[in-house]
Amino acid sequence: MPDVTGGCFCGAVRFRFAEPPGMMRMCWCRDCQYLAAGNASVNAIFRTETLEISGDVQTYESMADSGNAMRRRFCPKCGTQLFSESSSRPGMMVVRVGALDNREIGPPAGVIWTGSAPSWAHIDAGLPATPGQPGAGSLVTPAASEMP
Ligand SMILES: [Zn+2]
Ligand SMILES: [Zn+2]
Repeated sequence: MPDVTGGCFCGAVRFRFAEPPGMMRMCWCRDCQYLAAGNASVNAIFRTETLEISGDVQTYESMADSGNAMRRRFCPKCGTQLFSESSSRPGMMVVRVGALDNREIGPPAGVIWTGSAPSWAHIDAGLPATPGQPGAGSLVTPAASEMP
């Protein structure tokens, strides 16, 4: 399986994972709407231990609606959102799919936080969805044992 590579808009940050993501999903939480310019964020979830980064990233820490402490990383030069990590899921790295070189690695398998989406949001009715933070083991949350 080839490595999964990506980087920011300006090219100052590049990254690589040694294995494919365990899951892809979309998130309509209020925080993601700021970061994704009004839409849901589209995320691929990888195991952190296979990540290599080159270039400088800056970190922003906040508390999510779920109550989890979030740590987001972005390019300080162009502002592209790259990664986020949650205190509830140590060892997993959430990556913005827009930053991947190959965005065809797979469609999202589910949608979370649909309850905070605006009324005009397009949410694929064919995907499993949850109005808030998914519980462990749900269709839209990878269990650690399901990760590659
Ligand atoms: Zn950049
Ligand atoms: Zn979100």
